[in-house]
Amino acid sequence: MKRHARPHKYIVGVDLGGTKILAAVFDPRGRMLSREKKSTRPERGAAGVLDRVADCVNEALAAAAVPHTAVAAMGVGVPGLITGGGAVVRMAPNLHWQNVAAARQLSQRLHFPVTLINDVQAGTLAVQQFGAGRRLRTFVCMFIGTGIGGGLVLNGELYRGSAGAAGEIGHMVVVAEDGPRCGCGNYGCLEAVASRSAVVRRIVTAIEKGRSSVVTELCDGNLRRIRSRILAEAYREGDKLVRAVIHDTCEYLGIGAANLINVLNPEAVILGGGLIEALGSVMLPRITRAAMAHTISASAERVRILDSGLGDDAGILGGAIAARQLAA
Ligand SMILES: [Zn+2]
Repeated sequence: MKRHARPHKYIVGVDLGGTKILAAVFDPRGRMLSREKKSTRPERGAAGVLDRVADCVNEALAAAAVPHTAVAAMGVGVPGLITGGGAVVRMAPNLHWQNVAAARQLSQRLHFPVTLINDVQAGTLAVQQFGAGRRLRTFVCMFIGTGIGGGLVLNGELYRGSAGAAGEIGHMVVVAEDGPRCGCGNYGCLEAVASRSAVVRRIVTAIEKGRSSVVTELCDGNLRRIRSRILAEAYREGDKLVRAVIHDTCEYLGIGAANLINVLNPEAVILGGGLIEALGSVMLPRITRAAMAHTISASAERVRILDSGLGDDAGILGGAIAARQLAA
């Protein structure tokens, strides 16, 4: 520990998602001072979205009363493939971006150094440093939201694979025959049956076929407005349709977790993302039961299935970790 803190030690962490932007300011001791949120509006194009990121960060800095000159660095979690050592978004399907030099463009807007990190890797690093993975050496993260992302920490290190593409657990095939089509083009992937998008799709299809559900009322008749929060409310009200779909989803997630447990023999499978944040208390016991039904005993003996403990903050915390590495 240095005895005198240097002046430029504040850090900004950003979670840039397809739907919303979260930005938080951290003090030199790592405490979160402020946290702001904005919608992404990807239809405005890369420059428009980067303007919104900068606005969100400016609001967070103002709320924390931290001047731009006191920021050491900012890290941004992005749902896509990052190249150029954290400089370029090579491809981000949810944002419709290709080859966007987002680090430089944000740095021009904000006047401090910026680095980019894949959002799932950011979330996994956050779980390792601040969440349920803190005291673990080998674990798997499953983030269940719009899609399903995965992070592998093996012997204390984030495993990236031979081409940096490891952890695509959303594309493990769990329905071998007649599975629904996945965004990747294959059929029967875990993401195609157990992501929040898959859950919403099944519920909307059933309602459109005439099935009644409190969801219709909870989203004011606009089925495109179904969010994890609405699903949680419908579940707690005992809605039969939502309960049946969520229970099915837990079975699939349990099968996915069992495959990972059997292959990797981890200490834990750690669950996060919007759907788990909203429904973790009802989903975790069911996912655990389903997983145990498909694991071989040697791997299953000591494995635990845990909530990440970070809620919606995994992305901004991971962005802050990347920023701190850049500033070091
Ligand atoms: Zn797939």
